[in-house]
Amino acid sequence: MAAWRNWSRELTASPARYVRPSGTEGVAAAVRRAGRDGHRVRPVGSGHSFTPLVTDAEVMVDLAACDQLLDVDLTHRRMRVGAGIRLAELSRLLAGHELAMANLGDIDRQTLAGATATGTHGTGAAFGNLSTQIRSLRLVDGRGEVHDLGPGDERLDAARVNLGALGIVTEVELDLVDAFTLRGHDRTEPLARVMDEFPRRVAEHRHFELYAFPYSDRALTRTNDVVDAPPRPPGPVSSWVTERLLTTYALEAISRVGRRAPGAIPRLNRVVAAAAGEHVRVDASHRVFASARDVRFTEMELCVPRDAAMPLLGEILALIERERLAVNFPIEVRTAAADEIWLSPAHRREAAYLAVHNFVGLPYQEYFAGVWELARRHHARPHWGKRHPATAAELRELYPRWEDFARARAELDPDGRFRNDHLDRVLGPVDAR
Ligand SMILES: Cc1cc2nc3c(=O)[nH]c(=O)nc-3n(C[C@H](O)[C@H](O)[C@H](O)COP(=O)(O)OP(=O)(O)OC[C@H]3O[C@@H](n4cnc5c(N)ncnc54)[C@H](O)[C@@H]3O)c2cc1C
Repeated sequence: MAAWRNWSRELTASPARYVRPSGTEGVAAAVRRAGRDGHRVRPVGSGHSFTPLVTDAEVMVDLAACDQLLDVDLTHRRMRVGAGIRLAELSRLLAGHELAMANLGDIDRQTLAGATATGTHGTGAAFGNLSTQIRSLRLVDGRGEVHDLGPGDERLDAARVNLGALGIVTEVELDLVDAFTLRGHDRTEPLARVMDEFPRRVAEHRHFELYAFPYSDRALTRTNDVVDAPPRPPGPVSSWVTERLLTTYALEAISRVGRRAPGAIPRLNRVVAAAAGEHVRVDASHRVFASARDVRFTEMELCVPRDAAMPLLGEILALIERERLAVNFPIEVRTAAADEIWLSPAHRREAAYLAVHNFVGLPYQEYFAGVWELARRHHARPHWGKRHPATAAELRELYPRWEDFARARAELDPDGRFRNDHLDRVLGPVDAR
């Protein structure tokens, strides 16, 4: 049996050595030993990526034991933690100090280092991805040397989204905000109206996202706004309807039916979209942001200039209908603020992200290939942790600081200790000039 597999169970790895050091020294020792043995090394988080970022190396370094709270600075709202901490545990620690992350993605099972390495993001026009909340970090390079990268060191903007290609991050210091309560409001609405009003909704709400159901004229919208109220954690029944409908039981049911009878998908989607109903909750921010995702799917997500979001959504829905594609998973649309991180998909771009999914077991190849062809006309940058066919030759044209990242990579990993086949494809070879 393979030593490792990813969340969607589509990728496996059987490295010669799987290590779980408990601090920077242990990580550095593992890298130095790999150097002596001529082995390649991949750092691994919680395996929630869909791309083979961590496979085909002789040594896998799992940061699960680097998950401690190292320091809290309440005056400046900062916390330093072990980089392998899971986001759920991090949020729990922060809540204990009445602090929070300003924004989060839609699950909290990933590790901090793994999530930030691929530019994991939530939604909200005023908020960058999770990596923008990193103030400083500690990194073990390809020769086992330790670097502290902080404000003023421009390599920090290389390391905040790093694909595990620069080294192994062992500690992260975060910029935080005071704990806050969100009012989350989910409801279904006519898709055409939501598409028309998209810019206004994005501007009006702290966090806005939509899910468009293929073959249906309905969309599910989700808004999260700050309220001055104490959190009201949900009882076992109240959160059930939309949450479970969108994430688990109904999707699992339709995915099963859809796998057996793809022809039934358009009708199933219309039923689910119409039944989703309305749901309000008022709770601590991290509990409102994160959902359960129990049904296995595979995914591609593309970051485009925000103005291109609704045109691209329309083109994707038309593609699905024209080709009668068996897609029973809604298309998710989110936003993010522009940032300065060299390989962030939102680099210098007020961004929108469109995510397409299909359940594991349903064909996705034709769908994702078609969406990619449409999206690249809008200068799409793919999410680094999700499926995409782009290669370094194409990606370098999309990132103005590409060469700077390549230089930082060559400096920090001159021997290609952290390279693997996938990184060769998406970043190119390490060029230690
Ligand atoms: C159900 C589900 C929901 C998701 N929701 C979202 C979402 O809302 N928004 C979003 O943007 N993405 C989302 N994703 C994608 C996910 O956040 C990313 O793929 C993320 O990178 C996974 O983190 P991980 O801890 O599992 O890391 P892994 O997938 O294990 O690794 C990811 C990358 O991080 C590197 N890495 C890990 N640890 C270190 C380290 N210590 N130092 C340096 N590099 C390291 C690895 O080498 C690899 O390149 C979702 C994925 C799933 C499966």
